[in-house]
Amino acid sequence: MKERSRNPVTKKIARERIEILFEQARLEFCEHPERSNRYIGIARRIAMRQRIRIDREFRRQFCHHCYAFLVPGKNMRVRVYRRNVVVTCYCCNKKTRYSLGRSHVQST
Ligand SMILES: [Zn+2]
Repeated sequence: MKERSRNPVTKKIARERIEILFEQARLEFCEHPERSNRYIGIARRIAMRQRIRIDREFRRQFCHHCYAFLVPGKNMRVRVYRRNVVVTCYCCNKKTRYSLGRSHVQST
């Protein structure tokens, strides 16, 4: 019935690659922020091709407008407003909001 579903192993590998790319983006950020942005671009492309969602913890690490890798205190600002997290990207100056939901408060 589901002709289009691909091999689940491919998706697993894709997820691992995305994880590695975000890890690298974090490590390279201090010295080569432009490389971090490239890694995000590659991770997004892998996710799109494999039709997988980037995990929540990673989704919050880049700007959803300009796809820059975001580091708190460096190129982004985090504010909590009425149970919403508001992230301001210093690269494009746009804001992204996340709902805090029920018990997903990770850091304060
Ligand atoms: Zn941005």
